[in-house]
Amino acid sequence: MEPQSGRGPMNRETILHWLLETGEARLAELWSQADAVREAHVGDAIHLRGLIEVSNHCVRRCAYCGLSACAPGVERYRMPQGDILECALRAKEYGFGTVVMQAGEDYGLTLEFMADTIRRIKEATGLAITLSLGERTREELAAWKQAGADRYLLRFETTDPELYQAIHPSLPGTVSDRIQQLLLMRDLGYEIGTGVMVGIPGQTWETLAEDIWTFRDYDMDMIGIGPYLESPGTPLAGELGERLRARAGAAQVPNDETTTLKAVALTRLLCPETNIPATTALATMDPASGRANGLQRGANVIMPNLTQLRYRVLYQIYPGKAGLHETADITRAKIEAQIQALGRSIGRGPGGRGRANCAGV
Ligand code: SAM
Repeated sequence: MEPQSGRGPMNRETILHWLLETGEARLAELWSQADAVREAHVGDAIHLRGLIEVSNHCVRRCAYCGLSACAPGVERYRMPQGDILECALRAKEYGFGTVVMQAGEDYGLTLEFMADTIRRIKEATGLAITLSLGERTREELAAWKQAGADRYLLRFETTDPELYQAIHPSLPGTVSDRIQQLLLMRDLGYEIGTGVMVGIPGQTWETLAEDIWTFRDYDMDMIGIGPYLESPGTPLAGELGERLRARAGAAQVPNDETTTLKAVALTRLLCPETNIPATTALATMDPASGRANGLQRGANVIMPNLTQLRYRVLYQIYPGKAGLHETADITRAKIEAQIQALGRSIGRGPGGRGRANCAGV
């Protein structure tokens, strides 16, 4: 059945209309439709994925990111395997279904090191394993799948090719094509996750509508949407950002909470079965209620941070990240209390995309 909303069948035009909607009563309709679709298709459970920020080294020069290779003054780290395993064991102890290993694009995380780490985590915990390590070779991706990885997260960031090239320059001698990478991962047997930032300088309403349509076109298994948060010292915080905003003109998308929530809700309507996190960026923008707002407008996943504090404070893709100085125990307790306050339950098991996880299909 075609996805519907109060504006009839969903297409690029209706997405655009909803993104531009400012009427509170109409938006309340959007929120409640997204929440109903979430409940019908993925149920009340909120899946917890324990995040391990395994390295902040990065070869990329993404114009938005505080960990970019050209970001000044970043103290770099790469976690030894023992520390990664400690986090994974904690995820198991907490009853989480998945661990997510995320890093800058760090070729120091070699094929062999990651394959061995994945194998050890799988043997010790049996948990689902998600990777988010940037653009990697077919050989690496295949070896990590073989070792036991289940899912891969790689945001395509924007469907506007010119904007993409400006904010995510290709490495010399290569062409960065994240959609092709995602399709390769799917071929290799991964569940694939993607996403975008809302309100990057240069992002227009039409581009954001196209981004959301693209999630559906490729039937993505997981979709992360958070506000763009300016990171001081990055090119987007300076002259490049100004130039891109000028290029978008009046059509520039704001990086605010309501627009992010509209994108989350529309994504749920278009992709009823997908897993959608209430992102850390949303919780950073609105510490009091960003996460809860996301969970009430289509989201069904949270990624509590398990990284040891000594590393976590160095993984600053943007400043003031939610939970930056909290221990894993405190983060977990807060998140469980939030879930209880919403009258929702904590998901058990891996919580992957699939029929067993989709009450409505
Ligand atoms: N290196 C991997 C990659 O590029 O996919 C994973 C880590 S990267 C830091 C994860 C995501 O953080 C990016 O895909 C991007 O959307 C998001 N991000 C980076 N800088 C951000 C910023 N300033 N504001 C909001 N999100 C940001």
